[in-house]
Amino acid sequence: MTLPELQDTMKQMGQPAFRAGQVFDWMHRKLAPDYASMTNLPGSLRSRLEESFPYTRVRVIDRQISRLDGTQKFLFAMPDDALVESVFMRYKFGNSVCISSQVGCRMGCRFCASTLDGLVRNLAPSEMLEQIYEIARITGEKISHVVVMGTGEPLDNFDSLVRFLTLLTDEKGMNLSRRSITVSTCGLVPRMRDFADLGLSVSLALSLHAVTDEKRRTIMPIANTYSIAELMDACSYYFKKTGRQVTFEYSLIADVNDSEEDARGLAALAGPLKAHINLIPVNPVRERNYRHPDDRAVREFKKKLENMGINVSIRRVLGRDIDGACGQLRHRRLKDAEVSAPSEQG
Ligand code: SAH
Repeated sequence: MTLPELQDTMKQMGQPAFRAGQVFDWMHRKLAPDYASMTNLPGSLRSRLEESFPYTRVRVIDRQISRLDGTQKFLFAMPDDALVESVFMRYKFGNSVCISSQVGCRMGCRFCASTLDGLVRNLAPSEMLEQIYEIARITGEKISHVVVMGTGEPLDNFDSLVRFLTLLTDEKGMNLSRRSITVSTCGLVPRMRDFADLGLSVSLALSLHAVTDEKRRTIMPIANTYSIAELMDACSYYFKKTGRQVTFEYSLIADVNDSEEDARGLAALAGPLKAHINLIPVNPVRERNYRHPDDRAVREFKKKLENMGINVSIRRVLGRDIDGACGQLRHRRLKDAEVSAPSEQG
């Protein structure tokens, strides 16, 4: 609930108005793990709240800490045991958490592990927040940046995403600045426009990965629905409405999208939009046979873009020693469970 909603609820429960502020502060500032810890609330209210609005908690199922760079990957179980992964990363500019927006994903991108088991369900706003809050509790660190780049297509879970962002940026809550939040989309054009219209003005990243519709269709099924021309229009609309340049994510896949021609096409798309390009050497997923170009080829691809006046960075590779790619940890866990709990047919 937003603070005004909580105020209404407290009124209906016959509570004084200031209780709403207290509860909101416990949940979103002090990061209380449950109602029982809210010690300045009457005990009777705490139990009534627990009955009417069960507190969302996530449980840590697995935690991997990279020995290379301190990146931490968490596998969380939601209240219904659905599995979701989140990542904690340290950067020079602060600590960043990458969260999942859905349990699984139905977008079907060929190189992505999150989609291998399909979509199970959407995450609730509280389940998105709780990934960040639980990581803050466990690490004891301040979280200054959030990226919605874990499992799921955030714009496919639109209403929950918007509510989540509203709570995350509430000045009485975690109060994250809009510019330190990035939402990444595979390109649901109508929703990109809706998102622009809402004026939340967070950073938007578009997963482009190919510069012709033909090639994009071979790696991203969503390209059958929306063309690159429509995507570029939606990006300029986003800029017009929010004043934020869109970033293009481009996962470099050897012999698929790393040619000279691809670089030229990419520059032609990014140039007019002044889009920043984030190159991500594709993270190999066991079930797929995609490889990333070697480091030198990645640097050369970057150089080509720079020579054409494009602003480009190579995504720093973090956590290479701990199932780094989108959805790998969860997928492996699901497979392990299949092995240890065979179906009745054996
Ligand atoms: N559904 C959203 C957000 C989740 S994926 C989206 O498509 O943008 C976050 C980013 O990681 C996307 O750019 C996605 O294409 C990319 N990605 C997924 N699997 C990857 C892999 N194995 N290697 C490199 N990038 C990958």
